[in-house]
Amino acid sequence: MAFEGLADRLQSTIQKIKGKGKVTEQDVKEMTREVRLALLEADVNFKVVKDFIKRIKERAIDQEVMESLTPGQQVIKVVKEELTTLMGGEQSKIAVADRSPTVIMMVGLQGAGKTTTTGKLANLLRKKFNRSPLLVAADVYRPAAINQLQTLGKQLDMPVFSLGTEANPVDIANQAIEQAKNNHNDYVIIDTAGRLHVDNDLMAELQQIKADVKPDEIFLVVDAMTGQDAVNVAESFNEQLDITGVVLTKLDGDTRGGAALSIKAVTDKPIKFAGMGEKLDELEAFHPERMASRILG
Ligand code: GDP
Repeated sequence: MAFEGLADRLQSTIQKIKGKGKVTEQDVKEMTREVRLALLEADVNFKVVKDFIKRIKERAIDQEVMESLTPGQQVIKVVKEELTTLMGGEQSKIAVADRSPTVIMMVGLQGAGKTTTTGKLANLLRKKFNRSPLLVAADVYRPAAINQLQTLGKQLDMPVFSLGTEANPVDIANQAIEQAKNNHNDYVIIDTAGRLHVDNDLMAELQQIKADVKPDEIFLVVDAMTGQDAVNVAESFNEQLDITGVVLTKLDGDTRGGAALSIKAVTDKPIKFAGMGEKLDELEAFHPERMASRILG
């Protein structure tokens, strides 16, 4: 399970301070030292860890906290609040355009789970919000990607817009939006091309789609299992495209947690959804507070 090592270590660390009737500055320093090591081992970005620890120290080494009736618990509360803030604080919502359809552009590297997540997101929008999405196959370089989206469309009994591999992605997106208007699809989810690595051609193409289509959301799909790489990918995509949110996939695997804990701090963009498996119903809204509780026990 994800975060297992991190959760074990943080829980045993906070356990030591939990029941203490008196907490000294030294106790807090010891705790933060252990928390720092646990986060670094979980592959959390170095600078993110540094700032996080600084904030905990500032808030926990405080007269009001240390002289309270339950200082141990107060310190733990600080850790939990800061962990929640680190992962984005409030749960963030999905956009709804003033004028239908709401357009969502899915971007990410090949293999991150972009196409699967396109299907999962459509499923979630229908099930939870009673929406009627149109899926759009704009990855014109890989016929397999188009087929994959069409298969997902069949499984979900949802329309998929495709013009094959010969058309230009901007035209595909524009025509898909027209079709959505005619057929009363209130969400258009565009599955764009991925590459093995961040490259300039890909970014230029995505920027063109963005400029022309003006999507309401640009979701970057990243694989949580890739740790710091996921964070670097998020940084590059955000610089080039000013994404609106991140979908973290494969959180059902044994990821150490680094990506989940660093992405918001590094990009200042929220993690909106988490992929929890390969199946079409295994996508969840990302709740920072619940995730923090899961990690801290
Ligand atoms: P794309 O190249 O980014 O479009 O990636 P795909 O959608 O084809 O997904 C790549 C692989 O990751 C597939 O085998 C998916 O089933 C798998 N996958 C996607 N999301 C998840 C997830 O949340 N959990 C797990 N375990 N597998 C996932």
